[in-house]
Amino acid sequence: MKFGGTSVKDGKNILYCTSLVKKYANENEIVVVVSAMAGVTDALINAAQKCSKEPSAGYIKMFTADMMKKHYEAVEYAVKSEDIKNKVIYTLEKLFDELERVLLGISYLGELTKRSEDYIVSFGERLIAPIFSASLISLGVDSVALTGGDAGIITDKNYGRAKPIPGVYNIIKSRIEPLIKIKKTVPVVTGFIGAADDGSITTLGRGGSDYSATIIAAAIDADEVWLWKEVDGIMTADPKYVPNARLIPEISYFEAMELSHFGAKILHPRALEPVMKKDIPVRIKNTFNPDSQGTVVRDKIENKGDVVKALSLIEVASIINVRGAGLDFAETMSEVFRMLAENKINVIMVAQSSSELNLSIVVDQKDAEKAYKILKSLENGMMSVRKIDNVSIVSAVGAGMAGTPGVAGRIFSALGRNKINVVMISQSCSEYNISFAVDSKDGVNALKIIHDEFKLGSS
Ligand code: ASP
Ligand code: MG
Repeated sequence: MKFGGTSVKDGKNILYCTSLVKKYANENEIVVVVSAMAGVTDALINAAQKCSKEPSAGYIKMFTADMMKKHYEAVEYAVKSEDIKNKVIYTLEKLFDELERVLLGISYLGELTKRSEDYIVSFGERLIAPIFSASLISLGVDSVALTGGDAGIITDKNYGRAKPIPGVYNIIKSRIEPLIKIKKTVPVVTGFIGAADDGSITTLGRGGSDYSATIIAAAIDADEVWLWKEVDGIMTADPKYVPNARLIPEISYFEAMELSHFGAKILHPRALEPVMKKDIPVRIKNTFNPDSQGTVVRDKIENKGDVVKALSLIEVASIINVRGAGLDFAETMSEVFRMLAENKINVIMVAQSSSELNLSIVVDQKDAEKAYKILKSLENGMMSVRKIDNVSIVSAVGAGMAGTPGVAGRIFSALGRNKINVVMISQSCSEYNISFAVDSKDGVNALKIIHDEFKLGSS
């Protein structure tokens, strides 16, 4: 058996994670995918932005020293042999040197492109992979560290949200299989990052290590993917908002995808695409509670009669409302979505009034101003564009909703009884998902009300 997996870690728990890998490595062929240490990706993004705005060699020195401390401490803790320790420190020194030079470059240029931002954030994963691999070697497990590019994750040049190119699976297979089958070694691959065909480093979007793991799993026909998180698995709702939320032992790909699209932060929204076609189960496990079963995401699951299975909440989003499209509705729609796509604005949800006069589109609040400005250029005597900020999106997800009458009725009656005003509603014919927008002051409350209405919580 073989599987890929993402490991969550901070300085102290690398050894814990490598010991877990060792435990499974005897009887399985394993590919490990790692993401940056906690907080490092954010810190790198922040440093890159700072350098492009207020250049300061002193700041760069300090920042790099801070990163070094964090990673050298991790080496100290996780690598149990002087010899191996020295080797990995040599590798890290070169990386820190490179990082310092790139940050200096950015501050000289006074400009940060998406391409250089990807290059800088890649250091989080590029620093941790050699440490993780060295820790495995020091435990007696043969291992080799690879970047996403080395592993064959070749992507387009959509920096910040890159996608693998067609044919990528064969490339990955040709690079990874010899390592696990012939060399019998454990590859430790940097999650989150890939490479474009010109060799430049790209990233797959925040939380992209999950996606890296499932891409590799699909390429090598893995038996399972294990995603190690800091929570037990997928819950009926985020326990941060709904304290009596329960763990869901089994969920289908479609249900899990709907949830991650609508803000459940547990999975990268694209992470299930590569494994769905091959029906490779994805197990979400808690690093700190490895004996718990976690949640299994797979194709065919038994429906135990639950209609609504889980809820997600996007706390703040914006609605862009296009009004008065009238007779040219289809043309206007295509123009609107083309413009949004061209500007890489992610559309979360859409609704249209049956009079065909009105189109409402939900976007991330961070994209809202841009989307609004772009669409405003379409305004004419007939048509007007308006932006509504501070809405929350609640999504109810469950394959059992399809064909079950009265689910929408129950949702909106419960909200009505609690005097919550619904601003926008959407349900597609898949009937897997009913989503609605409310004022963001009502978001968490709406989530709790629906959670109670369908008795999703533990009593
Ligand atoms: N380190 C990256 C991030 O923080 C990728 C990941 O965590 O999966 O987004
Ligand atoms: Mg991360």
